[in-house]
Amino acid sequence: MLEIRNLHVKLEDQDKVILKGLDLTVESGSVHAIMGPNGSGKSTLSYVLSGRDGYEVTDGSAVLDGQELLDMEPEARAAAGLFLAFQYPVEIPGVGNMTFLRTAVNAQRKARGEEELSSTDFLKEIRAKAKALKIDAEMLKRPVNVGFSGGEKKRNEILQMAMLEPKMCILDETDSGLDVDAMRLVADGVNALRSPERSFIVITHYQRLLDHIKPDVVHIMADGRILQTGGPELALEVEKNGYADILKAHGIVA
Ligand code: ADP
Ligand code: MG
Ligand code: MG
Repeated sequence: MLEIRNLHVKLEDQDKVILKGLDLTVESGSVHAIMGPNGSGKSTLSYVLSGRDGYEVTDGSAVLDGQELLDMEPEARAAAGLFLAFQYPVEIPGVGNMTFLRTAVNAQRKARGEEELSSTDFLKEIRAKAKALKIDAEMLKRPVNVGFSGGEKKRNEILQMAMLEPKMCILDETDSGLDVDAMRLVADGVNALRSPERSFIVITHYQRLLDHIKPDVVHIMADGRILQTGGPELALEVEKNGYADILKAHGIVA
């Protein structure tokens, strides 16, 4: 499903190299966690995959279902099924949440060569999905994320994910300081959306998120590369012993 090979990325306007030959394979239907010390390049990886400005890919590839993402515009990547959950969801004053979601869903359908959803079908779908996620109908009418509580923003993010039906979801929750309730929300949302056709990359500092989202595979990332890959036990090991031993084994001085 997603194959990243030998990915090298630097900052566009500086010499700083951030990703240094990153390899990662995420199979269809699986949940992969990426953990690693601050400054490893975890957020950079998600930004580069989504096509954010400011980074230059100097080598490597990232292929999603046979399509090279790195050659595509951000909108095309979304249409190809990539979804990046923002750590700090953006507020859009003046644009109703429902209108925003309908525009996003239809833009994506158009890019995929599908017909737009009629208002009736869209309403039916969003009401059903909002209900399943315990989102108040009133929240759908409010401007996007404006005045939303932290928990409401998280819910809204999951609703966006549910409506866009992506194949590959990336959640970078690293530094967001989610409280227990918000973490539960994200975990329940992810678990509800797990399916054989959908994969997740969950970027996190903490084992505790992985108590709620059981990953199939855990990767340890440092210095712009994946250093070690294992099962859920790897996250527990890191929680207990920290990263020092793994870094040392790869000749990285922390
Ligand atoms: P992580 O998410 O693992 O903490 P990041 O991807 O945020 O790591 O950052 C990796 C490294 O690249 C850090 O040293 C960070 O300071 C640097 N970096 C990332 N983006 C920028 C930027 N836009 N300008 C300057 N430095 C950056
Ligand atoms: Mg960081
Ligand atoms: Mg980060």
